[in-house]
Amino acid sequence: MSYDVVVVGCGPVGALAANLLGLKGLQVLVLERELEHYPLPRAVHLDHEMMRLFQSAGVIDRVEGDMIATDGHLHVGADHGVIRYMGTVGKPRPFGWANDYFFYQPELEAHLREGFAGMANVTLKLGATFTGLEQDAGGVTVSHDEGGERQTASARWVIACDGARSTVRKALGVDLDDLDFEEPWLVVDAEVQGPVSFPPIAGVPEGADLQRLSVMMCDPVRPATVVPGRRDHRRWEFMLLPGEDDKAMSAPDKVAELVGAWMADVPHEIVRAATYRFHGLVAHRWQVGNVFLAGDAAHQTPPFFGQGMCHGLRDVANLAWKMDAVINAGASPAILDTYQPERDPHVRAVIGAAVAAGRYICELDPHLAATRDTRIREEARGKQGETAHDLIPAIREGLVLSGTSGAGARFVQPVLADGSKLDECTGDGWRLFVRDDTVPGEAGGVTRVVAAALADNEAIASWLDQHGVDAVLVRPDHYVFGTAADSAEDLLAARAAQLFDHKELTA
Ligand SMILES: Cc1cc2nc3c(=O)[nH]c(=O)nc-3n(C[C@H](O)[C@H](O)[C@H](O)COP(=O)(O)OP(=O)(O)OC[C@H]3O[C@@H](n4cnc5c(N)ncnc54)[C@H](O)[C@@H]3O)c2cc1C
Repeated sequence: MSYDVVVVGCGPVGALAANLLGLKGLQVLVLERELEHYPLPRAVHLDHEMMRLFQSAGVIDRVEGDMIATDGHLHVGADHGVIRYMGTVGKPRPFGWANDYFFYQPELEAHLREGFAGMANVTLKLGATFTGLEQDAGGVTVSHDEGGERQTASARWVIACDGARSTVRKALGVDLDDLDFEEPWLVVDAEVQGPVSFPPIAGVPEGADLQRLSVMMCDPVRPATVVPGRRDHRRWEFMLLPGEDDKAMSAPDKVAELVGAWMADVPHEIVRAATYRFHGLVAHRWQVGNVFLAGDAAHQTPPFFGQGMCHGLRDVANLAWKMDAVINAGASPAILDTYQPERDPHVRAVIGAAVAAGRYICELDPHLAATRDTRIREEARGKQGETAHDLIPAIREGLVLSGTSGAGARFVQPVLADGSKLDECTGDGWRLFVRDDTVPGEAGGVTRVVAAALADNEAIASWLDQHGVDAVLVRPDHYVFGTAADSAEDLLAARAAQLFDHKELTA
């Protein structure tokens, strides 16, 4: 059988791809090397945009109960005073969700697999290892090993979600750009029956609760992160100092000593301890013909803002709506060439911010750390009210009407008067929000929503006011395509031209 898409790898990124593509009726084959999903947590944090994507993928009811809303990030200096606070307490929630959540990755992966398990058009093959591929004008033939037997499958497109050591990326000969950051850290997960004891920290902002924040101790004695997890789960990350040995540092006695210091008299059980090299890497090419790299196969980031998996989920959301548009709406296949131009600068900007934070967090010289504290405090004064949301840039190039106000930004998702969220009311396809009935503009495949007729139109109307426009056209992945004043007709014409007449081939 020939598939629309073969997804290689069923980690969180491949599993979300399967859900999004499966819901749109595409024929999907997922190849996964292992028999079970990875049983230990890696990612612990995600942001509101992921919750919205889980809505789009129809899995929100499965995952929501395992998410713990949290209050953001706090960075503490060498003098144990706060140097940077990216808190969300008391801030508006324009996207319908809290800004940040903590979760347990194995639970999320299980929910994502359950999400597509009942879809007749999605086949998951476990114990199936990708071994190679060939491309021609008709698509891609993928070879894989199943129980020692070589099998092949053909597809129009392949999405490689096979993780940091991606065999697909290697088969394509794609190199990684090294963003010149590499530091060894010990990662410890524990189930903890009580609060964590922090050393005295000066300048904790009013209303901030250390137990609900991701706390980064930028202490040159040993930089460390303490992160609350879902239910009793807690995560510690400790930087390894020069000369420290990975094996010795992950030995049970050493781990117990490091973590025990934070839990005087609190019963706890260490779930795992492992060392990682935190680094920043981005693939030179994200697309080779009809094969696309996504998730850790395309990029890896130091986890200081908890965005690695989030990047990957954004990648497949970007691909999924475009593949749906080609298969189900007759869009030009060349729209897939906008994948890397849209995603690569986005990912590099956020990895750049994580690497920049990593450089100051990992400072081990006490004098330089003191200077760093002064500098970060000064910079933070100029960014009062900053949250992690501010790290995510707009899409600048690709399927957006550049130059129109708000183009490429993530669109708001207000909670309506009846308690439902905007997407529940409008669906998640192309949506045109117009201020009122007098604003002309309608097109096939686009849901027209009159803001004044919504059960709670305040948020949309004020978004339009803020951008000085009367209409906003939103893509299926919830990014703004473009905006217009008075009439939406040119906006819709621009969408049609970009979707259906797109000819530019960059790959
Ligand atoms: C310590 C740490 C903390 C982190 N914290 C966060 C965080 O808080 N927030 C966040 O967003 N991200 C975080 N991350 C990053 C996040 O864990 C990864 O970005 C995410 O797991 C990547 O998902 P993926 O699906 O791309 O790859 P993976 O999860 O690695 O999945 C790849 C899948 O492909 C399969 N596979 C591999 N090769 C083959 C093959 N040849 N054939 C078939 N299948 C194959 C594998 O078995 C696996 O199931 C953290 C990472 C680490 C290490």
